[in-house]
Amino acid sequence: MKHFFMTICMGALMFAAAGCSSAPKTATEPVSEQTETAQPTPAEDTPQANPQKTENTDMAEMTMEDGFQMDAFKTQSGKDIKLYCIKHGSLRIRYGETEFEIDPVTDLNGVVTDYTKLPKADYIIVTHEHFDHFDKAAMDTLTKDGSTIITNDSVAGIYGKGDVMANGDEKSLRDDIHLKAVPAYNTTAGHEKFHPKGRDNGFILTLDNFRIYIAGDTEDIPEMADIKDIDVAFLPCNQPYTMTPEQLNKATRVIQPKVLFPYHYGQTDMKQVTDLLKDSGVDVRIRNYQ
Ligand SMILES: [Zn+2]
Repeated sequence: MKHFFMTICMGALMFAAAGCSSAPKTATEPVSEQTETAQPTPAEDTPQANPQKTENTDMAEMTMEDGFQMDAFKTQSGKDIKLYCIKHGSLRIRYGETEFEIDPVTDLNGVVTDYTKLPKADYIIVTHEHFDHFDKAAMDTLTKDGSTIITNDSVAGIYGKGDVMANGDEKSLRDDIHLKAVPAYNTTAGHEKFHPKGRDNGFILTLDNFRIYIAGDTEDIPEMADIKDIDVAFLPCNQPYTMTPEQLNKATRVIQPKVLFPYHYGQTDMKQVTDLLKDSGVDVRIRNYQ
């Protein structure tokens, strides 16, 4: 308990010390920031230092590429999709020659990603403004001529640019690339302030009919019943900000993705998740998304 409390305090101090260059300016936001800052991510449990392994983890599907865990898929027409596990809420998707970066964050409680070593992004997609999802420096590093930034109204306001999508909005980025913004919010009493309904996005990214659901920070909301035909889902699982393992289990059984990557899971025991989903028919893959 003492250790947990100290972690919270240190996290809060670190954020304060890091300065407020990326701090949202409105009156309501410091609450959610401070609380999300309390997310315990001790250095000893960093993705690099301590990859979690569980019985159900299908590591055979995974290879290392560019220093990251990578899962490869093929679309029905044979195009390559590579999913790179960066960390926590950050992922990189390579579709043919096209690069997507989702919620790129350089330094998360000491887990550092050097985005200068990665390809510039054709599309940078940011779900919401919290520091474990939105990092101006990472976005600047990944931007090239022709990069498209897609985010919500709040992040576009803070960053000063970006195409805004609200819950329910859809757009075709290319003939074979389609994006839909879907709701992502808290429902548990007392947790609504973390991610209030209507502010943040999850996204369904369709690449040559291959459908990837990136849930963002959300609980198992009723709108998930409308999310169908998902090839790969990224669902968050940490307290108090997103889902419990039980909620993740419920959400997964509603959505029925072919493959599930639990992500944004912090200290959550992934063994509990794989046990709950054992008979679900879903291919659950645990990667270093602490
Ligand atoms: Zn988060």
